[in-house]
Amino acid sequence: MDQWDDWVEYDPAAWPRKVEKRYILVPTTCFNCEAACGLVAYVDRGAGSEDASGRSEDASGGASRGTPLASSPQRFASSLPQLRITKLEGNPHHPASRGRNCAKGPATINQVQDPNRILYPLKRVGPRGSGQFERTTWDEVLDTFAGRIRTALIEDRRTEIMYHVGRPGHDGYMDRVLQAWGVDGHNSHTNVCSSAARVGYALWSGADRPSPDHANAKFILMLSSHLETGHYFNPHAQRIIEGRNKGAKICVIDVRHSNTASMADHWLAPWPGTEAMLLLAIAHILLNENLFNREYVEQWVNWREYMRAKAPDAPVEFDRFVEHLKAHYAYATPEAAERECGIEAERIRTIAREIGAAGSALATHVWRNAAAGNLGGWQVARCLQFIVVLMGAVNTVGGTHLNSNNKFVPPPFLKPPPQNVWSELLYPIEYPLAYHELSYLLPHFLEEGRGKVDVYFTRVYNPVWTNPDGMMWEKMLRDESKIGLHAALTPVWSETAQYADYVLPMGNGAERHDLMSQETHAAKWISFRQPVLRVAAERLGKSVEFTYQANPGEVWEEDEFWIELSWRIDPDGALGVRKYFESPYRAGQKITIEEYYRWIFENSVPGLPEAAKAVGMTPLEYMKRHGAFLVEAEAYTGHLAKLKAEQVQGAEKHEDGSVVKSGIPIGVQHGDAVVTGFNTPSRKLEIYSETMQQWNWPEHDLPAYIESHIHRKHMDRAKGQYVLIPTFRLPTLIHTRSANAKWLYELSNTNPVWMHPEDAVLLGVKTTDLIKVATRIGHFINKVWVTEGMRPGVIACSHHLGRWRLFDDQSTDRMAACKVVREEIAPGQFRFRKIEKIRAYASEDPDTKRIWWSDGGVHQNLTFPVQPDPISGQHCWHQAVTISRTGTDDEYGDVFVDTNKSMEVYREWLAMTRPGPGPGGLRRPLWLARAVRPSAEAFRVKE
Ligand code: SF4
Repeated sequence: MDQWDDWVEYDPAAWPRKVEKRYILVPTTCFNCEAACGLVAYVDRGAGSEDASGRSEDASGGASRGTPLASSPQRFASSLPQLRITKLEGNPHHPASRGRNCAKGPATINQVQDPNRILYPLKRVGPRGSGQFERTTWDEVLDTFAGRIRTALIEDRRTEIMYHVGRPGHDGYMDRVLQAWGVDGHNSHTNVCSSAARVGYALWSGADRPSPDHANAKFILMLSSHLETGHYFNPHAQRIIEGRNKGAKICVIDVRHSNTASMADHWLAPWPGTEAMLLLAIAHILLNENLFNREYVEQWVNWREYMRAKAPDAPVEFDRFVEHLKAHYAYATPEAAERECGIEAERIRTIAREIGAAGSALATHVWRNAAAGNLGGWQVARCLQFIVVLMGAVNTVGGTHLNSNNKFVPPPFLKPPPQNVWSELLYPIEYPLAYHELSYLLPHFLEEGRGKVDVYFTRVYNPVWTNPDGMMWEKMLRDESKIGLHAALTPVWSETAQYADYVLPMGNGAERHDLMSQETHAAKWISFRQPVLRVAAERLGKSVEFTYQANPGEVWEEDEFWIELSWRIDPDGALGVRKYFESPYRAGQKITIEEYYRWIFENSVPGLPEAAKAVGMTPLEYMKRHGAFLVEAEAYTGHLAKLKAEQVQGAEKHEDGSVVKSGIPIGVQHGDAVVTGFNTPSRKLEIYSETMQQWNWPEHDLPAYIESHIHRKHMDRAKGQYVLIPTFRLPTLIHTRSANAKWLYELSNTNPVWMHPEDAVLLGVKTTDLIKVATRIGHFINKVWVTEGMRPGVIACSHHLGRWRLFDDQSTDRMAACKVVREEIAPGQFRFRKIEKIRAYASEDPDTKRIWWSDGGVHQNLTFPVQPDPISGQHCWHQAVTISRTGTDDEYGDVFVDTNKSMEVYREWLAMTRPGPGPGGLRRPLWLARAVRPSAEAFRVKE
């Protein structure tokens, strides 16, 4: 690190000559998945006539037409030495990734150097979706949006401002902005991602994610399409290998033979949707063979509540509870599981006994996959955690932690109060227990006339392509009566950005500030993402006011954008917004982004000021230099954290160990101490959920198996009926942001349908043959890949590929997207047909002439109807499909969608809900987390 200001290495292009090149090395954080691995950017101090971005002005699209930001200095690049990023590698000082990355991390350089990237803010000049944009200025953008938002705030239309995020890349920054505005406008992608699993985990413990301590586990049990479906891929992967090297057994439950499954001791491929039954059979064995941790369960599980509710006539005794539990789950025998799941009973017994032998060193994980695929998928996570609880493996060495143990989010200065308003477009009354916003139903809600959105920000979010029923999204985004003004904040063109009114280029992982932490292992850490060229310039003695001045073109970053926008919304402070954007160091002055993070590092990160002082730095200097900080090396305390004496003062200690103050449990007696326990109403691990009783789902008050919408009884292979698994991801691609990463697309550029040889014979197809895959609202035409890595009766297709573009330039990148024609062949019926394959083309990057792939895959999500789980709200991704041979009019890549059927399917699923309000007129249980949580008052339904 002491050489990072002037790092010297030989130029590989000059080999065999030894030509020295000099770099400034700047740490930052990868933005290509949520794991937040550390990167180090190599900034070339070399020569050339280019500006700081490595681009000439000619390539930029001409000079700016607008005026610069009022307070900005002259164009910064002209005063800079010629700096450019040449590569990114792992940051060895990062506590989670430890210098290692997956393929997507180093590929950040492709995104930085993408010849087609959006360099300047753009404004629509033709009709929406016409692909006609012109360059505008950040000033014009800010004034337009600030004026519109200001008017909405003055008119108290606080549910009409919506920020809809795909990849946030930060922890809480935007929550603060939205609450400073006083709006209920945070929307996310989570209900097409992970919200089902979160419900399962939250019911047990109040924390919504697991944090497995893989490195110290004796048994690792994963339900993952591909190693947590990409999340935490690298930091988890390296620790799984560590655990394995120390003797841990690995079991992967996945219908598809994933890369992870290929490295496992056990690969189980149950019938999709039956995973909860399989897990209950394991629990059954642990209970009946007395392999579970009695002492732990007695101390930490809310078994007394269970007994009072489920066995009111029996004495409230632990042994009776165990008996009752065994009787309740008596149906979940290994033989019953074999019949339901298609996994041999003896294999289930073997695995259960190995889990029993691992004791509390049981690391488990489910994130998307079965939880996100199935009706009732949230019970998969709940049943998985049932096993963890039985083994006493919560928050143990080698066990399964709660994310709250291992994720550290330092509070910022001056937190605004929660908003006193509730948006029914985000959390409608039908879904009181949904873990996140019903985001992908927004078009359906607006179609039903439930409201409108006046100002809509999509941020690193591509719903037209990513979400199910994308044509409903397209319809909504084209309709100015539904979406008043839409800005797409994005580093790349996408299928959604083309429908926006403004396309605002935002930086990728090497071009922006963020602070992140993830639950990668049994520790706590923070990682600082920084705009590399800005930091390099500062090391050379230059000061930069705005990040876009140092980034390529005028690529900005959201953090600064929101500060500037907020300032203009409330220039005189009359709306109460401005004060949250005033500097904590310079009274009344606008905060700088550096001050924002400086305050956090100085005040909110335990140990950082001391660590910085020890090396002669300020906390901010330390983070800018190291890029990450290990807050707690071993975070095993969790629910055993002791309450302070003043917290316990005046509390009553109950016979069951709970400590209650003013009628509310605040902790649990544990030995001599009172500890926090879990974040549930009882402070215990809740096997029995009173909440499910109170909120109209009494049949789900315990971990249970729910038959999926794709249960095999609905499938008849003789009629071509199959289950389609669309949830798996390729480890080398990013959902929709890798289209401009040439290395990644060279690795992965086609997504055929995986099919077992038995099914290929039944259907009379072989690898590369075309098939038609029909859903409730449409169909797509794709190639077959025959493989034994698939369960018979089930097919699978990766969801990363099949990018499309309508235009040559202002559309998804040409190295990833085929050009298509979109035709409305009948009212509400659309067909997409490829008219141009991916092919080599000339650009600033000579590699684009070397593109050899032509396929690009097939877009399947457009043909999926929305299937919202009535409890979790999660879109149930798995599809019941019918496979047939193609007709003469079908071509590879065709996608057909009938939006007339979209609302019909939506209403069928909506009819399964049991709407609130719940007890006390609440929209949602007060104890349950909610994204950007409003005031308690807003939880109550008004007359
Ligand atoms: S796992 Fe890969 S994509 Fe995700 S943050 Fe790490 S390097 Fe980036």
